[in-house]
Amino acid sequence: MDHFNYRNGVLHAEDVPMSAIADAVGTPVYVYSRATLERHARVFREALGGIERKHIAFAIKANPNLAVLKVLARQGFGADIVSGGEMKRALAAGMPAKDIVFSGVGKTVTELREALEAGIGQFNIELEEEGAVLAQIAASLGKTADAVLRVNPDVDAGTHAKISTGKKENKFGVPIDEAPGIFARLSALPGLNLRGIAAHIGSQIFDLGPIEAAYSKLGDMVRDLRAAGHVIDRVDLGGGLGVPYERDKVPPSPADYGSMVERATRGWDVTLYFEPGRVIVGNAGVLLTRVIWVKPGAVRPFIIVDAAMNDLARPAMYDAWHDFEAVAPTGERMVANIAGPVCESGDTFGIGRDIDVVKAGDLAVFRTAGAYGATMASTYNSRPLVPEVMVDGDKFAVVADRVMPETLIAAERVPDFLRD
Ligand SMILES: *Cc1c(COP(=O)(O)O)cnc(C)c1O
Repeated sequence: MDHFNYRNGVLHAEDVPMSAIADAVGTPVYVYSRATLERHARVFREALGGIERKHIAFAIKANPNLAVLKVLARQGFGADIVSGGEMKRALAAGMPAKDIVFSGVGKTVTELREALEAGIGQFNIELEEEGAVLAQIAASLGKTADAVLRVNPDVDAGTHAKISTGKKENKFGVPIDEAPGIFARLSALPGLNLRGIAAHIGSQIFDLGPIEAAYSKLGDMVRDLRAAGHVIDRVDLGGGLGVPYERDKVPPSPADYGSMVERATRGWDVTLYFEPGRVIVGNAGVLLTRVIWVKPGAVRPFIIVDAAMNDLARPAMYDAWHDFEAVAPTGERMVANIAGPVCESGDTFGIGRDIDVVKAGDLAVFRTAGAYGATMASTYNSRPLVPEVMVDGDKFAVVADRVMPETLIAAERVPDFLRD
């Protein structure tokens, strides 16, 4: 459920008509609803109500905007980060360092050192060498790194290949059959407190079966590691729950997920870590755009909007679907292709879509754009970097500026050897 609804025929974010945002900020612009973010955070936490010891770390890569992080920090969420830049954002949003989990398959030595110095609460180790280097840096700083070992459970999450992470051919985690040996060697190192294991098998998952299969493998491993004499007090269950990009395709609810987790982890006696991203922010944002032209096409008309693949990359990258709705629909429908102004055919948001009739100048939104939207934006075709707005009841504020080409050009240099 979200707070983007039609009132008197006009799409609102909470109590603010989309047209007011377009008038004040221009388009394209991402619009987030604070009430929706809070609702999703609450629903996710409540779904895990039966789990006594837990920590929820929002996967920042889904939406790293400071205002979004601030809302989630106030809901008691920590952060799952995958870069030094994300660490800076989490800390800037006021998330305590101990609530931050550092994931990612390519943490550099500099990132590891800075995270240790900041007092990050957990490192998710992806390979044996990383663990050894982390231990060494920690020891040299007189610190102990709290860590878990990410295993690759070799299960197929049944999602798009580019966001599947838990098959043995993927780059993530250590092979599950090698994990006990690696765990034993790393846990002997000074500087490292290896407290458990982690898995994250993919994103936009619609079937709880593979997740449960992965968790069951983690449960077996917890038992085996304890039998080998290790103290295990944390298991990180990753993220990955899907969201409904299309109205008639309904993913498992957080409540379904919560009861599966309770069943799968019964008796583990650990603190469970969760890393939800998409499910918290996906439906809390839309991309507001204006129709530039309705261009006649050989087969169907093209709706050319002022948002493009550089603003919302998911359709071009993952063939992803985003519902397209007019801000003030007339009730009439049309079949059309929807595309942006960027000079490649990949800049297409939908082909042969049954949509509200729109004409040049009309406002429209791409729904469910709060996750992996603005965070993936670029300035391709020297377009401005897309701005972000947050709505709170009848108020709204720009929470990320539109970064103009002049600003980007000012960061570039013409070298001496090219000066006239
Ligand atoms: C991307 C990612 C997540 C979040 O995935 P969602 O599908 O957005 O919930 C969680 N953990 C790790 C390690 C990730 O890479």
